[in-house]
Amino acid sequence: MAELLKGKPVADAMKEELSKKVETLKAKGIMPKLGIIRVGARPDDLFYEGGAKKTCEVVGMAYEVFEYPVDIDQASFEKAVTEVGAKKDVHGILMFAPLPKHLDDRKIRALIPVEKDVDCLTLGGAAKVFADDVTGFPPCTPTACMDMIHFNNIPIKGKKCVVLGRSLVVGKPVAMLLLREHGTVTICHSRTENLPDVCKDADILVAAVGRAKMVKANFVKPGQIVIDVGINEDPDNPGKYCGDVDFAEVEPIVAKITPVPGGVGSVTTVVLCKQTIMACEQQNS
Ligand code: NDP
Repeated sequence: MAELLKGKPVADAMKEELSKKVETLKAKGIMPKLGIIRVGARPDDLFYEGGAKKTCEVVGMAYEVFEYPVDIDQASFEKAVTEVGAKKDVHGILMFAPLPKHLDDRKIRALIPVEKDVDCLTLGGAAKVFADDVTGFPPCTPTACMDMIHFNNIPIKGKKCVVLGRSLVVGKPVAMLLLREHGTVTICHSRTENLPDVCKDADILVAAVGRAKMVKANFVKPGQIVIDVGINEDPDNPGKYCGDVDFAEVEPIVAKITPVPGGVGSVTTVVLCKQTIMACEQQNS
């Protein structure tokens, strides 16, 4: 049976540390604040937003939601995002994506000041991550994967790390973060040949494919650490969700595994707050 790498203890420890940081900032008359930009009211966005607001409250920091109608035009939205970006009391910005199709996503993202880009929405933010500039902020999910790994004292240096998925939101940045810590990283995608064998060779396997239960018993071996980033509707249990890893098949084989739900996803909003507090510290240093 594998050791379960749960998100809650990681999130709790981080929240405790963040509360202290907020206290220190408040003592200097500074209140860290997250600005949340949302167009429309998609249920998934509202769910994530609810989690982010709750975490802000727990650690004692401020937040403000900037909500816009789904039919907002490009010029008005550009103006709105520029205004949020210019707000001195907003230190970190989360903008929900994808934006409605009629909006030019690339142009809008570019309006977010890089120093407030706490979820790596801008090219400048991504450049910092890829250039190992630690003043930059990776997207929250890859940072959450790394926080899970660090909290559980899992060694990365010299280890074979296989990342399944190459998106800009998860796969590529998590690969860069593992590489930064001297992992030997392989990135897999939909054109990778012999995928199960490549994954089986890993010491640390990060699954971020967005395909329910795709990682089966033949993808893993004893001793592996499996980080499951996936959040998918569970085809076998309507109304529930599951990871990219077939937990029932994989868990009896590997050494350690993150559950879904209750794994990486539970750490993500805490990372959002952590990175906003870091941005606040940087902007006031
Ligand atoms: P994307 O759809 O953007 O990327 C999926 C990646 O997986 C692509 O690189 C794709 O390859 C690859 N892929 C898809 N199918 C296969 C296949 N059959 N074999 C090999 N590779 C495949 O997804 P995201 O990166 O945005 O998200 C990944 C997962 O993480 C999703 O389940 C999502 O819900 C979850 N997620 C979880 C978060 C959290 O907080 N826990 C936050 C963000 C995402 P190619 O590039 O070749 O198409």
